[in-house]
Amino acid sequence: MVIVEKTTFPRFVIGESLLPRCMEALEEAGFLNALKDAKFQEKSGAKFVMSDKTICDFNFNEKHSSGYEWTWQVPRADFDKILADECGKMNIPIYYESEVVHIQFHDDESSDIDIKLKDGTIHKISAKFIIDGSGYGRVIPRMFGLEKESNLAPRRALFTHYIDKNRNKIKAEEPDRITIYVYDTTTWVWCIPFSNGNTSVGFVGFPDFFEKFNSTPTENLKAMIASHEELNEQFGDCEMIFEPRELKSWSATTDKFYGKGFVLTGNVTEFLDPMFSSGVTLASVSAQKAAHLVIDKLNNKPVDWEKDYMEPCMQGVNVFRTFVNEWYSGDLHTIFFSKNQNEEIRRQISSVLAGYVWDKSNPFVNNHEKQVKSLAKYIRDTQA
Ligand SMILES: Cc1cc2nc3c(=O)[nH]c(=O)nc-3n(C[C@H](O)[C@H](O)[C@H](O)COP(=O)(O)OP(=O)(O)OC[C@H]3O[C@@H](n4cnc5c(N)ncnc54)[C@H](O)[C@@H]3O)c2cc1C
Repeated sequence: MVIVEKTTFPRFVIGESLLPRCMEALEEAGFLNALKDAKFQEKSGAKFVMSDKTICDFNFNEKHSSGYEWTWQVPRADFDKILADECGKMNIPIYYESEVVHIQFHDDESSDIDIKLKDGTIHKISAKFIIDGSGYGRVIPRMFGLEKESNLAPRRALFTHYIDKNRNKIKAEEPDRITIYVYDTTTWVWCIPFSNGNTSVGFVGFPDFFEKFNSTPTENLKAMIASHEELNEQFGDCEMIFEPRELKSWSATTDKFYGKGFVLTGNVTEFLDPMFSSGVTLASVSAQKAAHLVIDKLNNKPVDWEKDYMEPCMQGVNVFRTFVNEWYSGDLHTIFFSKNQNEEIRRQISSVLAGYVWDKSNPFVNNHEKQVKSLAKYIRDTQA
């Protein structure tokens, strides 16, 4: 086995709030001890804030499905470097600064791959099978015309890391809790505190929100922070660690997550939206499932990619798609910030937020769309 990576690690990538379900994949891959040693900020739930009096707090120890009740909030540069270094310790060679630029598949599913090195020369390797985990690079879908437009509306994000000097003063009771602020129905803000004292802050919304701010990324983010009382109190006088970065129209998908000689994992399959922090969990669980199937395949065991890979991947994506859609439609605001919440329903929703989106005993997994829509309607009808 070899890993081919275009950049060199550590490198920045966004995706800093993990979900408990990804811990199972990290554990099976043998990464947990090294990650524990790094002492990342533990995450045991998530808090959604509409206003200082309208708050919805989920704890992962109160959830429908069994499994991990905690995870981490991580600067991805450090987190991903640990994963890569652990692969190195398992004697898996990693070719850094090596970009996959051409793939030739053969009838027996093996392939020849051209890799462009930093100095521009082409290095050739052969593979029995390819796992494409190239994220936003989307190597195989782009190379072989498999890309498909996402049915989600385009959204944008602007984010940075702050030296969070006010955290302990302003959030004395729970300074390290991840918090999602509802800015307006379609705009929200993540605050992800790290154990190194910095906090990741990002605004996400539709393009028209961002078009109202027309200065530099730094000035735009400052203006956004200044326009929100609680955010301004915590971050208004904090130093940004890097000039805010912008990402837009990130949703993408492809028809099939597998083909002759390859399987796609993580963002290459489908990436929805940062709301609910599903990206790393869907990436690690798809990689976990793909790894099992590739081992079976290389051992000449029969593999049903459609049933054993595509269907479970889509199952997870579709549950999160409903949650993302219904967040932006406002239905999840209605549910999260309703009065007199039913404990069992809270546990079922908490399970989805923890990433347990394959447990069909949970009605918010098995019948996600109907369940969310009818609960929101019931709340609107009875609490109007
Ligand atoms: C604004 C925003 C906020 C987000 N927040 C969260 C969050 O809080 N939690 C969460 O779970 N997810 C979040 N995500 C999603 C998260 O970024 C991704 O889902 C996650 O990083 C996917 O991991 P991956 O391994 O598939 O791809 P990546 O992490 O992108 O890794 C892919 C790797 O492939 C390499 N590569 C690309 N092309 C080539 C090539 N041609 N040759 C060789 N190597 C190549 C890249 O250099 C990269 O290192 C967010 C996304 C956005 C847009």
